[in-house]
Amino acid sequence: MSVPVPVIPSPAAMEAILNTISLGLIVVDSQQTVTLWNDWVVRHSGIEAKLAVGKTINDAFAEPPSRAFAMALANTLTYGLPVVLSNALHRSPLALFERLLDMPGAVRIHQSVTLTPVQIDGERCCLIQITDSTTSIKREKILRSHSELLKKEATTDGLTGIYNRRFFDEHFKMALGHSTRQNSSISIFMVDIDFFKEYNDFYGHVIGDKALIEVATTLKQQLLRASDVVARFGGEEFILMLPNMAQDSAVQFAEKLRLAIWNSDIPHARSKVGDRVSISIGYSHFNKMEGTDPNALLSTADAALYEAKKQGRNRCFYKELPQVNFPKPGN
Ligand code: GH3
Ligand code: MG
Ligand code: MG
Repeated sequence: MSVPVPVIPSPAAMEAILNTISLGLIVVDSQQTVTLWNDWVVRHSGIEAKLAVGKTINDAFAEPPSRAFAMALANTLTYGLPVVLSNALHRSPLALFERLLDMPGAVRIHQSVTLTPVQIDGERCCLIQITDSTTSIKREKILRSHSELLKKEATTDGLTGIYNRRFFDEHFKMALGHSTRQNSSISIFMVDIDFFKEYNDFYGHVIGDKALIEVATTLKQQLLRASDVVARFGGEEFILMLPNMAQDSAVQFAEKLRLAIWNSDIPHARSKVGDRVSISIGYSHFNKMEGTDPNALLSTADAALYEAKKQGRNRCFYKELPQVNFPKPGN
């Protein structure tokens, strides 16, 4: 069996390889004098190898390297320790540019720099490897903004721009858990536009959409605290959740919502309760101290809305939560 003979590239081949590699390579000797300066470094520094070789690394670049780089290099040469200058902490330690120096708008590239001690002819030298992390950082930024956009799209209603049902359901579940643990309260308001089918039939779907946007915006404007949430619950129905609101404030708030829409004065020629768009509101209130059942909050507010409709629309109706049925002792 024949043993493969290792192929050692000729000096010319080695030079071609060093100059083709898409990585910056610089070698300095123990006195920090540049002995190798590959084509990648030429392209990004704008300085020819014949001008850099023989100079100290401080003088070779158009601007001296950063203090962190200078210290790292001194450590590598003195103690023989490899050092990595992470891009997160040291963006651009060396004067290397995306475009050449003399071009307008030259931007320094983000660099990841590795310093490795190498023994050359018995002398401790340092091999400096530089990679351009600009593109990976840009890619990361794009990915991050894409994922933020997707997250936003997944939680907002496409028409009105307020939160959607999906977001509400998740948020509500969390808020309910929090309020049962912390003994805080939650008020839920279900809002439904009156005679909206007639509105659409009379004005058309496009104007109908505009009215929905206006109602959503007006409802949102009534919220004052960061913990308050308004969402589109479906069709022409909206839901609002306000934590830590006293029950008498909930009464006032429901009326405030009704009046805000009424005062928006959106003409509705086919409404049977007035000359403009109105809403009906059903609401309920949970407070653990009262021993009521938090799981009935949505269905109770919905039942209250049904009652507000039944009693003539353009009104608010409050319904108390049922008491929690504690298991009887012995059961
Ligand atoms: P009520 O007073 O009892 O609530 O009567 P209503 O006509 O408002 O209720 P109904 O449920 O009969 O009709 C709701 C209407 O809402 C039907 C539908 O045309 C309209 N709607 C639902 N979603 C949208 C939407 O995204 N855009 C538009 N333009 N209309 C919508
Ligand atoms: Mg409805
Ligand atoms: Mg309706």
